[in-house]
Amino acid sequence: MTGYAKPLPEITDLTKPLWEASKRGELVIQKCKKCSHMQWYPRHSCVNCASREMEWIKVSGKGRVYSFTIARQVIGNSPEFQKDIPFVVAEIDLEEGVRLYSNVVGVNPDDVKIGMQVEVTFEECTPEISLPKFKPAKT
Ligand SMILES: [Zn+2]
Repeated sequence: MTGYAKPLPEITDLTKPLWEASKRGELVIQKCKKCSHMQWYPRHSCVNCASREMEWIKVSGKGRVYSFTIARQVIGNSPEFQKDIPFVVAEIDLEEGVRLYSNVVGVNPDDVKIGMQVEVTFEECTPEISLPKFKPAKT
């Protein structure tokens, strides 16, 4: 099999800026122009004040592991993930105060710790999609 086998996000008018930034190697999140609330994942309006005036801002890509789990087996109809076992699914708290889900990569899963400093890295999946993932931060 050639190409990227796992499911990928659909690029929509809402999410297009995120995927374009990811292709450039930049992590962006939404910030409300009215109340300055920052949010992840992309939405059409601010979850704090309901304003629809959202902008995209580049963030540092640095954060800490808030929580995580290690997937050690594939359950259900997703054999395309089998080659990744074991892998880490984590909640990452960005420096900017936004929490997001991603994978921690580039480290033995058993060495991932809560509070661990991480930084964004991008997995190039297709010409259109690079997925933001996180690796241990350089110290
Ligand atoms: Zn707002």
